[in-house]
Amino acid sequence: MSEARTTLENTLGRCDCGAVTVSVTGRVVSMFQCACENCQRSSGGGHSSVALFETSAVHLLGPTNSYKRSAASGATFTRHFCPRCGTTVWALSSRAPGLIILPIGIFAGANTWFTPNQLIFSRDHRPWDLIETHLPRHETYRGASGA
Ligand SMILES: [Zn+2]
Ligand SMILES: [Zn+2]
Repeated sequence: MSEARTTLENTLGRCDCGAVTVSVTGRVVSMFQCACENCQRSSGGGHSSVALFETSAVHLLGPTNSYKRSAASGATFTRHFCPRCGTTVWALSSRAPGLIILPIGIFAGANTWFTPNQLIFSRDHRPWDLIETHLPRHETYRGASGA
């Protein structure tokens, strides 16, 4: 898969106000889009677009507040956001220890490398939200049996 070859070097991301910055040097572990209802609410759109990295590849700077919730998988999902402007800057899932989830929008202006390989939680996806038709879709998580 092409994603395995995507490596970033000093790629900078930040929240909307700039109080929180993220610098990434390392291989992209995975890239996908998620249409679950939590992502619809927190992103304000029809889906979230995220990339996963090993925690060691990401350098975080600046204060964040966080919000924890239970994911459909039973995992704990923690979303970190800028206390000033509210932008989600990173997230962690107890389902993926050692990995950090970064929303692609924080790299605005420097995110042409993003090539998602799947849409998860397609059961919640709505047709008005356009997703590339070639993208594999999974009802919930990849490999899950639907519920
Ligand atoms: Zn901010
Ligand atoms: Zn989601």
